Amino acid sequence: MTQKAFDYTQDYACELDKRDELASFRNEFYIKEGMIYLDGNSLGLCSKRAEKSLLEIIDSWKEFGIDGWTEGKYPWYELSEKLGERIAPLIGAASEEVIVTGSTTTNIHQMVATFYEPKGKRTKILADDLTFPTDIYALQSQVKLKGYDPDTHFVQVKSRNGQTLEEDDIIEAMTDEIALILLPSVLYRSGQILDMKRLTEEAHKRGIVIGFDLCHSIGAIEHNLDEWNVDFAIWCNYKYLNAGPGGVAGLYVNKTHFGRVPGLAGWFSSDKSKQFDMEHTLTPAEDAGAYQMGTPHLLSVAPLIGSLEIFEEAGMANLRKKSLHITRYMMDLIEHELKDMGFALGNPTDDAIRGGHIYLEHEEAARICKALKANGVIPDFRAPNGIRLAPVALYSSYEDVWKSVQILKKIMQEEQYKQFENKREVVA
Ligand SMILES: *Cc1c(COP(=O)(O)O)cnc(C)c1O
Repeated sequence: MTQKAFDYTQDYACELDKRDELASFRNEFYIKEGMIYLDGNSLGLCSKRAEKSLLEIIDSWKEFGIDGWTEGKYPWYELSEKLGERIAPLIGAASEEVIVTGSTTTNIHQMVATFYEPKGKRTKILADDLTFPTDIYALQSQVKLKGYDPDTHFVQVKSRNGQTLEEDDIIEAMTDEIALILLPSVLYRSGQILDMKRLTEEAHKRGIVIGFDLCHSIGAIEHNLDEWNVDFAIWCNYKYLNAGPGGVAGLYVNKTHFGRVPGLAGWFSSDKSKQFDMEHTLTPAEDAGAYQMGTPHLLSVAPLIGSLEIFEEAGMANLRKKSLHITRYMMDLIEHELKDMGFALGNPTDDAIRGGHIYLEHEEAARICKALKANGVIPDFRAPNGIRLAPVALYSSYEDVWKSVQILKKIMQEEQYKQFENKREVVA
């Protein structure tokens, strides 16, 4: 599968860095001396521009008090809409279809509360058995809120191999009992990209509403949600988009659904010109803004302002191109350097279905991750036996990748991992 296009020396890694047209973006980020950060798929690093925009919002609070809602460089009242407009190109949406609001979990609740309308025989929700737990919990509670039992009304498509999903199996599960589908765009463990276009077409043929969780794809791969005619999507902005821990999330609603009453309404669901009329009858916004609830968490919105500038300058197509190249390079090095050490590559190797991270499996994964951290390399561990390694196009270098694989090799040769317990940390 892997073409042997790479050389395995450190000099070659440095040569790749010299040729990398995105290399200068690394200087935009705070990267601790001696640290190799490969966890941008869990929490992206802090950039100088994200820090700057956060401080600018604090300044507007200092300077304007309540008038910060309409005054200053980034008036708060329209900021969620303005940032939605800037995120739209990253997912192939129109400006008014995107809003920055809530968290992934609350946005799942909002979208499902809005789109899940059990009727007649069509009463069930379909998901998969590899997705992130919060998605499962939220969907199960939405099924319960409608008065159904999740044991019978929440269906999870099974993976055949425990790592990836077959689109054919998902399509087969799209029966006339399914009212709504939520699936990940990229699986958080194996990094498999699902064919969103095909799945949306098949769902629509059967009269089913379909949404995607883009947490592991936004800022990592390109999307064409409008072209694919996806009904809705949700995501967090603190992974590849580097908007900071707990950063405010986003949602997309296809414009064909504008006017649909928000399942969970609040005064920020209002048409913005009517909001301060303080009426007890809600007039919802005519765009994705209708699916906001309360006052935006502005201090957690602020870093996104600066962070998006970096994406606008780098260009998503360029970032994806580098990501594919640097992950290919990493897989090739792993195959060459870590042979017969008990590792198995758990991510798809094909460019078309490989997301932004590498997933390495090993029975000692938990303590290998601890040994990597002790050596300054930051991966993350995913139970039961996975090591996720994300060389992020904006700030990881080819030399980082080369060094990490060398460090991993040394950890295995010297059995350094045996100094640690094979048990995950509280936050893994
Ligand atoms: C990171 C992630 C989440 C996180 O949800 P929060 O509400 O931000 O805690 C949810 N779903 C997926 C698939 C994720 O990768």
